[in-house]
Amino acid sequence: MAAKLLTGKEVAQKLDQDIQSEVQALKGKGVNPTLRIMIAGDAPDSLYYANSAKKMAEKSGIGCEIEQLPGTMSQDEFVKTVRDRNNDRAIHGIIVMRPLPRQISEDVVKYILAPEKDVDCFNPVNAGKIMAGDLTGFPPATPQAVMEMLKFYEIPLSGKEAVVIGRSMVVGKPMSMLLLGENCTVTVCHSRTKDLPAVCRRADVLVAAIGKAKMISKDYIKAGATVMDVGINPEGDKFVGDVDTEPAKEVAGAITPVPGGVGTVTTRVLLKHVVKAAKLQNP
Ligand code: NDP
Repeated sequence: MAAKLLTGKEVAQKLDQDIQSEVQALKGKGVNPTLRIMIAGDAPDSLYYANSAKKMAEKSGIGCEIEQLPGTMSQDEFVKTVRDRNNDRAIHGIIVMRPLPRQISEDVVKYILAPEKDVDCFNPVNAGKIMAGDLTGFPPATPQAVMEMLKFYEIPLSGKEAVVIGRSMVVGKPMSMLLLGENCTVTVCHSRTKDLPAVCRRADVLVAAIGKAKMISKDYIKAGATVMDVGINPEGDKFVGDVDTEPAKEVAGAITPVPGGVGTVTTRVLLKHVVKAAKLQNP
């Protein structure tokens, strides 16, 4: 039997509804949830991402300003600007776009951004909160989007074997902690893992976050497993995932498409985090 397709659209629609009703409730209390996206320089990728996030935020009634700063700004000036935004009570969530210009160190700035406004888990305090199971934190949007999809499609997690391929701070590591938080038995794989296909075939839930187009063939998948494909890799004029989806569908029980899967949900998670930040800052 062909795998069930876990598409992102329905999950995004549900999140949109939840976000919009929470925004209305906050506005009723006189709080206008607001996101600030800070960009030093003019990298086209950062501007494109910021503009699409702004459009989506505004559709949900969330205020969003893109603050484009000179790429020549010194680290001290940038740090001061971030501190000013931390102290601005009208701003509830802040995203600092990366990469930063060479003269500004990410390792310095990430500790300056106030954890309670850090809606995309830049400050390691928020990474630590995932480890601690502290629900006041903000996990990175992509692994949280995977969790939203698993929840929406009612994929059983407790006691299940989960295998995460990838150990980045943006996806793999937080992903493993979020699955552990749902009582999965979690294995984290990376480029030095021996016999990756055999390890992956143990998984009831397999998450691929590698960045290698179609690397995960059907030989990596246990019959009936749920496969969450986080990869976004250019191939010609399209994007493909880390999983070779068509053959994988013959083995998996459920699988996310690329495009139209996890990526569709990620920005909604950021907006959900802005609403959560606004609520926590206005108890
Ligand atoms: P990174 O390059 O930071 O991490 C890739 C991970 O994959 C590393 O841990 C690396 O291992 C591991 N890896 C690389 N090659 C192999 C291999 N042959 N076998 C096993 N493991 C391997 O990538 P990201 O975590 O930032 O992103 C992963 C993918 O997710 C990319 O395709 C990216 O485009 C996509 N992405 C999608 C998002 C979305 O919204 N859907 C958002 C963010 C990213 P090691 O640590 O040993 O080097």
